Amino acid sequence: MTGRRTAPTEQNGGIEAGRRLFAQSCTFVAAAAEDWQLPAPGHPEVAFAGRSNVGKSSLLNALTGRTTLARTSRVPGRTRQINFFELGGRLMLVDLPGYGYAKAGKTEIRRWTGLTRHYLKGRPNLRRVCLLIDARHGLKDNDRAVMHDLDEAAVSYQVVLTKSDKLKPEALSATCSTVAAELARRAAAHPDCIATSAVSGIGIAELRAALATLAAPAAGG
Ligand code: GDP
Repeated sequence: MTGRRTAPTEQNGGIEAGRRLFAQSCTFVAAAAEDWQLPAPGHPEVAFAGRSNVGKSSLLNALTGRTTLARTSRVPGRTRQINFFELGGRLMLVDLPGYGYAKAGKTEIRRWTGLTRHYLKGRPNLRRVCLLIDARHGLKDNDRAVMHDLDEAAVSYQVVLTKSDKLKPEALSATCSTVAAELARRAAAHPDCIATSAVSGIGIAELRAALATLAAPAAGG
């Protein structure tokens, strides 16, 4: 579900480009827990951010068609480093640490928000941040704080609703409209939100298509 209208041929071409990109191999290349461990900028990057337990690992696994690329965890906040995955030699998928984990200590929160901010502010090849929002909960204050940082750093971002299978279509449309109205007031936000589900597969092809437009061109094409 996106707000943008596209001609069917344009949309089909985009869906096919997304399918082809995400059918390529995706491999883990680096993990950074400290600023100095960040790999040198290379391929275009898309980073995934969201509150702990938003469904980020599940979404990354659904996008790449792997079950174990990003570890899904029943313990929120376990992924406290930035993980880099290279997709088909054309795009780097960057898994940022989940935020808003109530049981984390202050020092730890400071360390991982510091690392994330450092990454977001100094990454010339960062094309977009996908800001994951649980479709049932909508935007929360800590999501707005991240949006504020992204607006300040002039990093383009797009809201991706997760767990959309848990809502009826009318409720999902209402959430999309509420979120889109708030995004319209934000400087660096992409105007549409994409509703996805790692369980039912809703929106996965559309998100792949959107991300394929940010990748380096395919060799020979
Ligand atoms: P992360 O902490 O953001 O990486 O979240 P996970 O991917 O580990 O998911 C957190 C919980 O939400 C797990 O219990 C998942 O099974 C569940 N979950 C993730 N995505 C979906 C989805 O699309 N639909 C439903 N119904 N549950 C999901």
